[in-house]
Formats: sequence, C-alpha cells, structure tokens
Amino acid sequence: MTTPRTILHADLDAFFAAVEQRDRPELRGKPVVVGGASGRGVVAAASYEARAYGIHSAMPSFAARQRCPHAIFVAGDLAKYRRESRRVFAIFDRYSPVVEGLSMDEAFLDLTGTARLLGDAVSAAERLRAEVRAVTGLTLSVGIAPVKMVAKIASDLAKPDGLRAVAADEVRAFLAPLPVGRIWGVGAVAGARLEALGITTIGALAAAPEAVLRRALGSFGIGLARLARGEDARPVEADREAKSYGEENTFERDVADRSALADPIRSHAEAIARRLRRDRVAGHGVTLKLKLARPLGGGRYPLLTRSLALRQPTDDGETIGRAALSLLARVEPWEPIRLVGVAVTRLAPSDGSQLAFALGGPTDPRRARLNAAIDAIHERFGDEKLSRGAGGVRRAGLSMGIKRGERETR
Ligand SMILES: [Mg+2]
Repeated sequence: MTTPRTILHADLDAFFAAVEQRDRPELRGKPVVVGGASGRGVVAAASYEARAYGIHSAMPSFAARQRCPHAIFVAGDLAKYRRESRRVFAIFDRYSPVVEGLSMDEAFLDLTGTARLLGDAVSAAERLRAEVRAVTGLTLSVGIAPVKMVAKIASDLAKPDGLRAVAADEVRAFLAPLPVGRIWGVGAVAGARLEALGITTIGALAAAPEAVLRRALGSFGIGLARLARGEDARPVEADREAKSYGEENTFERDVADRSALADPIRSHAEAIARRLRRDRVAGHGVTLKLKLARPLGGGRYPLLTRSLALRQPTDDGETIGRAALSLLARVEPWEPIRLVGVAVTRLAPSDGSQLAFALGGPTDPRRARLNAAIDAIHERFGDEKLSRGAGGVRRAGLSMGIKRGERETR
C-alpha cells in the first residue's frame, strides 16, 4: 500500500480580466471582457461580473455583447499576462519541486512528502494563496486531493478565491453527486452514451457494471469508471520531464523518395536546436515522426515514430539532424509519406559548457561559435534566411511551434 499523493491544483481566478481590473480601477466591479471586440473576435477571459450574464471564454464576442450590451471590452496585453504568469510560477516553484504547468495561470503542484497530513497541505495552500495575492494582487483558487482530476475539480468548485481539500477517504463521496461531464475525457459523445444508459452522475458511473460500460464505450468506458472512483495513478509531471521541442511539416505533395526527406529533417533539427539554445536546455532523446500517405479513412493516416537516446544531451542542430537521419535510414518497409517531424525529448537545463558534449565529438569551439552566429542571424532576419546546408522547407501545414510547458522567452 503506497501513501496517497497530495496534489494541489492552483488556478488564478478570471486571470486576464483580473489583471485588467487590478491595473484599471475604473473596471473593478464591472463586467469586463478581454478579447477581440470585432465581428469575428472571441472572448479570451471574462470577469466574474461578466460571467453573471452567461459570458464565458471562447464565446464569440458578438454573443457576449448580446448577453451584456454594457460589457466593457478590453483588447488585452499578452506580454503583461506572461509577465504576471512568470511571477506566479516563481511562487509555485517555492512550494514544490514538482510543478506541472497546464496554462499561463494554472498548475499542479505535488506536495506529497512535503507535508504528511492533509492539514499541513491546507495551511501551505493558504500561505501560497496569500503570497500570490500579496505579490500580484490576484486571487488564486486551490484544490487539494490525492488525484489530479479531483484536485482540479475541487479548485473549480472553490472559485473564486477559495480552497477546497478532499481527503483520500472523501474522494468517492465528493465525486458522486457531480455530473459525469466533469470526468476527464467525457465529452458530448461519451456523455450522450452514458445518459442513454441512465448514467448522469459520477456516482452512477462509478457503480455501473463493467459489462454495461464495455458494451457502450469499450475499454474507454472502463477507464472512465476508474476515474469516477477516484482511481488515477498519473503523477504530477515536472515541466522539464514533460517537455519536448518539435518541428514538423506536411508536404504539399506526398514524398515517395526517402532521400528527399533529408533536407526537411536537417532544417527541423536546426530550428529545434535554435529553440533549445534560446531556452538554455538540451535533450538526449531524438524522435523521428512520419505520417504515411496511405489514408485510413476519416482524415486519418498511419503514424510511425522512431526514437533513440544520445549519449549526451545536445542543443546542436547537426547532431540532432544526424540522429534523425539515422532513424530514417532504419524505416522498413518504405512507403510514401505526407508529414515528417523531428522532436527532442528528455530535456535538462544546459549551460555553455554542455555544448562541448553536445557536439557528439571532441570539443570544438568553432561549432559553438557557428551556432552562436546562426542564432544571431536568425534573431535579426527570422527563420527563412539561413539554414545550415538544409535549404529550408516548404510547408503546406503549420509547423508545430510552442509545445506545452515550453518557456516563452520572446
Ligand atoms: Mg484560471
């Protein structure tokens, strides 16, 4: 029997709108909508006063205006929100070594072992909330539970400016009366199937016979019932472990010739390396991703991934490119492909000295200088200007940019 985890979910209340109300006193107590006010704009955040009118984020701005004609629309300032986010995460980092950011204003903190009793976690959470308020003037709601999903639901029910703790032996009673839609993974389709079975609450889902769930939803249904019983072993993953840096492109025409992938792969590798160096991290996992051109129906295509581990973490484009090309050479049987991607995983912070290892060969200060020069040129001219021997990539699809948890330093 393992000790239950103590997981804290922290979430700022109406983050963007709260920042605006903090900085502009004339907005306090008023329905404030952050987001595009134009015809096609959407609501990015709504103050609690605006939510009282049924306005919520992701709603079209015109619909928000219909619900509350006197709402005050604010364009918003992402750079300012990022700054606030960094201040708040710096506080999170002092409360736990394991912080998993979910978005700019939301994170899981693993407090397991930092306090043996739930009572201690609650007082730590109250200190955290007070500190966030003192430093930023913003209110933070917190949920504490042995399971991630339960902690997140608890913080949501505690909003605004609240705290809710659910002990291990209270989890099932806490979840039971809630609608099944609260379970992670239950969307409109699964929700409708469960409702057809007469299952509308989490308690009913937890108690439903396995055979019934399997018939309606397959093994997915069994997993949902497990969540409904509060059984979920997923740990809080520190951002560094969860992070990967990837680049990929979909080709305008399917590519049958394997050697034609070398240039795009090298180009992706260089782009990833620049981002790694910018963020001062290095990784020793390299993954090659290929989407085959053979359709599976429903707009889906077979996905093939191959990975290897480098002996040392790297932030060097040539090393990453070589690794990805060696993975490409091993793909059998070969088929035409529609997408190629490269990712670097298993990241660790890097400093200048790690570059020596990163080269995959003897220490070569020229390579470090070359990389620094490449970065400087990209800084000035953007991504299209230069790529070492790779000639760039024509993209039919969007390249994957910032992945979850990647620091945004620009
Ligand atoms: Mg929030």
